[in-house]
Amino acid sequence: MRRVRRLVPGEQKRAIKLAALRDCGRRCVYCAKPLDYEHATLDHVHPLAKGGAHVAGNVVAACPPCNRLKADMLPVEFFMRYPQAGTNFIHYARAVHRALKRQARRAVSLAFAGVRMAA
Ligand SMILES: [Zn+2]
Repeated sequence: MRRVRRLVPGEQKRAIKLAALRDCGRRCVYCAKPLDYEHATLDHVHPLAKGGAHVAGNVVAACPPCNRLKADMLPVEFFMRYPQAGTNFIHYARAVHRALKRQARRAVSLAFAGVRMAA
C-alpha cells in the first residue's frame, strides 16, 4: 500500500517561502534588493494582525529591514509613507491579489501628488 506523505509544517513553510521568492523575482518587493533563501522573510501584505489571510495572494518576499519597517502597517499606510516601496511592490509582487496592487497604485499616486503639492 502506498502511503501519501503529507508535508510537515516545516516543509510547508519552506515551500511557501520558496514559492514567494520565485514569484517576487528573488527580490525584496519593497526595496528591490536581491534576496537568497536564508535572508528572505515572508511578509503578509495585509497584516495578519489586521485581518489579512495566510494565502499565496497575500504573501511576498521581503528583506528583514523592510519587514520590520512595515511591521503591522496596512499596505495603504505603508505605501503612502514610502511610495518608492509601493513602486517596487507594483513591479515585483507579481503573484499578489489584484486588489492589493490596485491599492498600492492608488497609495503611490496619492503620495506623489502630496509631495508635489507640498513643494
Ligand atoms: Zn527590502
